[in-house]
Amino acid sequence: MLGKKILNDLSAYKQGMQIEDVKKEFNLERIVKLSSNENPYGYSELVNEIFSKKDFEIYPDGYSYDLRMVMANKLAVDLDNIVFGAGSDELITCICRAFLYDGTNTVMATPTFSQYRHHALIEGANLKEIPTKNGRHQLEEMLQAIDENTKVVWLCTPDNPTGEVINNSELTQFMDKCPKDVVVVLDAAYYEYMNKEDQFDLQHILNNYHNVIVLRTFSKIYGLAGLRIGYGITSKKIAHLLNVVRGPFNTSSISQRAAIAALQDDEFVQNSKKKNAHVLKQFQQFLDTIQWEYYNSQTNFLLVKTPIDADEFSTFLLQNGFIVRSGTALGYPNTVRITIGNEKDMESLQHTILEFHNKLNNEVVE
Ligand SMILES: *Cc1c(COP(=O)(O)O)cnc(C)c1O
Repeated sequence: MLGKKILNDLSAYKQGMQIEDVKKEFNLERIVKLSSNENPYGYSELVNEIFSKKDFEIYPDGYSYDLRMVMANKLAVDLDNIVFGAGSDELITCICRAFLYDGTNTVMATPTFSQYRHHALIEGANLKEIPTKNGRHQLEEMLQAIDENTKVVWLCTPDNPTGEVINNSELTQFMDKCPKDVVVVLDAAYYEYMNKEDQFDLQHILNNYHNVIVLRTFSKIYGLAGLRIGYGITSKKIAHLLNVVRGPFNTSSISQRAAIAALQDDEFVQNSKKKNAHVLKQFQQFLDTIQWEYYNSQTNFLLVKTPIDADEFSTFLLQNGFIVRSGTALGYPNTVRITIGNEKDMESLQHTILEFHNKLNNEVVE
């Protein structure tokens, strides 16, 4: 057999539909992509200024010194508390590679972000998947699942695909009870979108729990998904292990410079957060009027419960030029995950949903 045995049971990541595919298939001119939680407001203009430097024949700085300085300063941590990756996705792979192997196990919610499971299986670890309730991690049950072979626990907050958060007291209670030799990954890809009062205190977490790895990214609110850069904040010991595992030049010179530029523009981030909150609220109010339910989200997406099969509803939206993610593939049947786009696109999405809703209700009445 070719390759590790487990690879035969796994599939390559199946991304949402691409804009050009949808245009061709449905003969549409304009597509609104609301399937990958990208920032509809783009990215900071400061990022465009980095492209004048053309030194692409030179390897990037494998230590990301300049970015590391800016980041350490911003987060008030030491330089060696940070690890960079080609997106936080790569860091998830590195964590699995560093801590998981045959005979170990790892605890996670189910459903949740799919990459934890995927890479844990590739490393030969056993999974202990604890079902969510109402889209929320069941932390007590996750704690109880930990045994002497558990190496890593994954907490996704805000969770993808529900958007639900683990609040501060829940998190500290969990951390207080969790054995210190178990690595706890806090995947906070949407951290910047969270309500201030629910954002965990990085300093407190880092100082009190040396077994935590916080994952954050430039892909979501910073709008740099195409450049692939994310980071982990953790104890120096764990950072060292991840540095041993990662590729020597895993982030590109472009992505490092873009990240530095993006970090100079707090106004862009605050604006994105504000506009997202406004449009999210309008969308929720719209769903309330047609009595469609949704999960509590502190992100730039909303998991919406659909009155018919989610694949069927997604196809209807596709035909009307909106790409969303069907919950069927995400473990939440009869839901769709919709990225919060800009105000105009979301208004036109609402029209389309209303049309669908009215048609459905007329059919029921007849
Ligand atoms: C988007 C996302 C990531 C990965 O982001 P990168 O682009 O790889 O940085 C990780 N975790 C969650 C929960 C996400 O939604």
